[in-house]
Amino acid sequence: MRILIENGIIYTCEPNQPFLIGYSLLIEGDRIAWIGDGIPPLPPDLRMDARHQVVMPGLVNAHTHTGATFLRGKFWGLSLMEWLEQSSPFLESKTFEDSQYSSWAGVLEMAKSGITCFADSSRTGLNIQIAAEVGLRCVAAPMLVDEYPWGYQVPRAESVKEMAERLAAITEQFRGLVSFSIGAHSPYATLPFTLQDAKKVAQQWGVRFCLHFGEHPYEVAYVRKQYGKDLVDWLDGLKLLDSNTVGFHGNVFEEQDLNRLREIGVNLVCCPTNGALLGCPTPNLSAWGRARIKAGLGTDGPLSSGGFNPWAELRLAGAILGWSRFPEVTPGHLLKMATIGGASVWGLDREIGSLKVGKKADVITVIIPPTKYIDRATVESMLVFGTTPRDVTNVLVDGRVIIQNGKFTSVPEKSILEDIYRYYDGIRNNLSNRRDAHEP
Ligand SMILES: [Zn+2]
Repeated sequence: MRILIENGIIYTCEPNQPFLIGYSLLIEGDRIAWIGDGIPPLPPDLRMDARHQVVMPGLVNAHTHTGATFLRGKFWGLSLMEWLEQSSPFLESKTFEDSQYSSWAGVLEMAKSGITCFADSSRTGLNIQIAAEVGLRCVAAPMLVDEYPWGYQVPRAESVKEMAERLAAITEQFRGLVSFSIGAHSPYATLPFTLQDAKKVAQQWGVRFCLHFGEHPYEVAYVRKQYGKDLVDWLDGLKLLDSNTVGFHGNVFEEQDLNRLREIGVNLVCCPTNGALLGCPTPNLSAWGRARIKAGLGTDGPLSSGGFNPWAELRLAGAILGWSRFPEVTPGHLLKMATIGGASVWGLDREIGSLKVGKKADVITVIIPPTKYIDRATVESMLVFGTTPRDVTNVLVDGRVIIQNGKFTSVPEKSILEDIYRYYDGIRNNLSNRRDAHEP
């Protein structure tokens, strides 16, 4: 199958060829075969008109929790630890249906937003199967919890080794589109032994190790009080930090820590909305850029960020930069974080994250509103500050059309969503005699 996306504004996210107006892109099988402005070298089977649209790499959501979608909107106005304390009993007691429907709703929403690859910290593995069914790329990144600081212990059904074996077996079925990593929740909710065990198993399988890291000053104070050490020193002393480590958040880090993390090779993922809503410090993205940290952007879970909207994350990241007067990091830099940066964080940048002949064809098209000026800086600025998920028209992953003209071609979105609504409507009806169902 050959697909030609023609007459678009090609935004490659490649350093030497970022912006081509009126060009076309030919996909053959699962890869990009040609980018040019003339007649394609081979006749296409399908033509997609991208006039007035940007053709760009699919977005990489480098950190999320699809399993929490069923609780969206339930908690707000809380700081990180208050939020965790209130929400964790709900999360830890969720049903199979909650996990399943959460993942479906989350994966569909991501695809419609232009996300073609996501790293998901749900533990069940359902997300992998659903991602594969929808046709998205997924890195399963489950995180182990021992005990939250207020004394809430989380029972574990399997050892780290067993979890890795289970995930490896699931991902094996969907070779290519899905992979896995091993994660531990955080320095305050995972014991040192478990952190090291998770890292060891990740090394044995040759996969990334991930954790929430440098998210909030509470975590820094906790490590200092509990272990008498600086956060980065402590984790480095446990031999958890290297170029296969992915840290989610990094809000608390300034120049010195960031330079050190760069030397070690640690990857970071910024989740702007989550940080802002949970009262975390503003990430110094300018210092991230100066330190040349390998960095991606993530939505985090919908329970802390409201949804899976990568454009909202880009917009807030851009606003943080403007607000804080961090001039070094531009909209173009943020778009790289959302594409090739996220791919690099997860070790996928050789295959995805930019538009280049020979790379996998993970491509989206995004409408550009009528405007007088079309140049690289203007288009980058419009993408970061003025785009919404509804502007995403076509989504292709691995050369396969997942969404065409805003409609799913891979799965029946409407009937899946109707099933989810029906299920939760049924539960609410069953609860309608209970007093708490009527509480505001
Ligand atoms: Zn998270």
